[in-house]
Amino acid sequence: MTDGEVPAPFSLDVPDDVRRMRDWVHQFARDVIRPAAAEWDEREEMPWPVLEEAAKIGLYSLDFFATQWFEPSGLGTPVAFEEIFWGDAGIGLALTGSCLAAIAVSSNGTAEQIGEWLPQMFGGPGDLRLGAFCSSEAGAGSDVGAIRTRAVYSEATDEWVLNGTKAWATNGGIADVHVVVASVAPEHGSRGQATFIIPPGTRGLSQGQKVRKHGVRASHTAEVILDDVRVPGRCLVGGKERLDARLARLAEGGRAGEQAAMKTFEASRPTVAAMAVGVARAAFEVARDYAVQREQFGRPVGRNQAIAFMLADMQASIDAARLLTWRAAWMARQGRTFAGAEGSVSKLVAGETAVRVTEQAIQILGGNGYTREYPVERMHRDAKIFTIFEGTSEIQRMIIGRAVTGLEVR
Ligand SMILES: Cc1cc2nc3c(=O)[nH]c(=O)nc-3n(C[C@H](O)[C@H](O)[C@H](O)COP(=O)(O)OP(=O)(O)OC[C@H]3O[C@@H](n4cnc5c(N)ncnc54)[C@H](O)[C@@H]3O)c2cc1C
Repeated sequence: MTDGEVPAPFSLDVPDDVRRMRDWVHQFARDVIRPAAAEWDEREEMPWPVLEEAAKIGLYSLDFFATQWFEPSGLGTPVAFEEIFWGDAGIGLALTGSCLAAIAVSSNGTAEQIGEWLPQMFGGPGDLRLGAFCSSEAGAGSDVGAIRTRAVYSEATDEWVLNGTKAWATNGGIADVHVVVASVAPEHGSRGQATFIIPPGTRGLSQGQKVRKHGVRASHTAEVILDDVRVPGRCLVGGKERLDARLARLAEGGRAGEQAAMKTFEASRPTVAAMAVGVARAAFEVARDYAVQREQFGRPVGRNQAIAFMLADMQASIDAARLLTWRAAWMARQGRTFAGAEGSVSKLVAGETAVRVTEQAIQILGGNGYTREYPVERMHRDAKIFTIFEGTSEIQRMIIGRAVTGLEVR
């Protein structure tokens, strides 16, 4: 919350401007994203023409995402992301992938860094730009403390030199700005890590293997190789003074300091939960409409309790996931800490809901649900990512387990 701002009371009344924004995003999702979804899933390529259309109307823009992020009720981002991912998750991730890099810089960076680099992660119509957040490595997925990418400071040139290989980076190698988590003091594990901005065109950064995936195939995922990448001192997110102070406290035996990657994931969890809610809702709607019109034994299949009850459970769990998501987003906007791991609760419930609901949707569509003629098989493949990235479901349970027991659950 910024100075002088009055905290918004918790309310389930979606503010008028958020409602208008939702309808506007929904229209784009319905008219542009959805019709393109199957094609880009098959092509397994970045849907540049869709990004261009989104940029033209101001949807793919720093201004749009920043406005929603700072929207006072906290509902701007979850409402927008639910609609985008209702359209399609693969294209949705292509449209929002830059946000994780933007969150990494805005949650830890200085005002100068935010002002300089965030616009370069989005660009504008005719000049699209991307950001990529690179934390994971082949040997460091859930175990962020195992990151081996090293950043070494050269006092003489005021430069950081980075070496390592990042795995699974959304927009990795094709982004204009890469935001990279590296170890600066390996003896301190994850607390000895820092985040670096790699400016466009920096020598030594290249794309490694592009990943062929089960779902969200319109989103680009790849390895990023850092081979003697040199960046100026001002590219250390948060600045050297803050890092030195943190390392000094650690050297004195204090527990000071945040895990750089963790802080980013913490802030983005309700946002990822909202993506999952969007996919679940999309699959539910297809299944509901199908159950009403498909007849077997001389009546709509939805007349069978077995099907109607499945739809009832789907609807109830989507509602529950959305409410948990909105609670976490509201708390985050009010600057409250997730003392009860509310961010993880939202991500866990929404991710698991999306997988279950999309699977139930396939069941309701029968054989048609299993084919590429209907969208629910794609939605099911897409939904699975929400139990894996930004902290797997097991990792969310670990965080929630720690919060509820106060024990060092591992
Ligand atoms: C499409 C896609 C996009 C991605 N985008 C990005 C990105 O932009 N930036 C980025 O940095 N990363 C990204 N990732 C990486 C993602 O965050 C990791 O895949 C995720 O954190 C899991 O790590 P892992 O794959 O190494 O699995 P592992 O950590 O090897 O886990 C394997 C299994 O063991 C379980 N497990 C691990 N530790 C424990 C434990 N302590 N207790 C119980 N169970 C445990 C896990 O839950 C999982 O089931 C992306 C991944 C994918 C697939």
